Amino acid sequence: MTKEKELVCIVCPESCRLSVAETDGVLAVEGNGCKRGEAHALNEYTRPMRMLTSVVAVESGVLPRLPVISDGEIPKDKIDEALRAIYKIRVAAPVLCGDVIIKNICGTDVDIVASRSMRAAI
Ligand code: SF4
Repeated sequence: MTKEKELVCIVCPESCRLSVAETDGVLAVEGNGCKRGEAHALNEYTRPMRMLTSVVAVESGVLPRLPVISDGEIPKDKIDEALRAIYKIRVAAPVLCGDVIIKNICGTDVDIVASRSMRAAI
């Protein structure tokens, strides 16, 4: 039996329409205009990864929320768990851009860091 998945390549603006077929554990990619698209399709099929951006609550800051970003990609199936962890956090101002807000989020070896600085309210 063959399983198939269709996706659009996001590696370059060509946006090739890719198809991944799995037959008896063997994967085959069609529709890719180059090797990078094949690698993207195989990654998306076997272990999709995503960068994560969100906000955390700030105490005593000039703004109530601090934008944060992962310093690497995390598995797509860990996104919900990671967001729940982020929503529980409160940080105290001041914060510098790049400060680690959550280390090794959900055991992914990826840190969540501040994507801007935040001054304390006077
Ligand atoms: S398969 Fe290659 S040419 Fe097509 S969108 Fe992806 S990177 Fe671009």
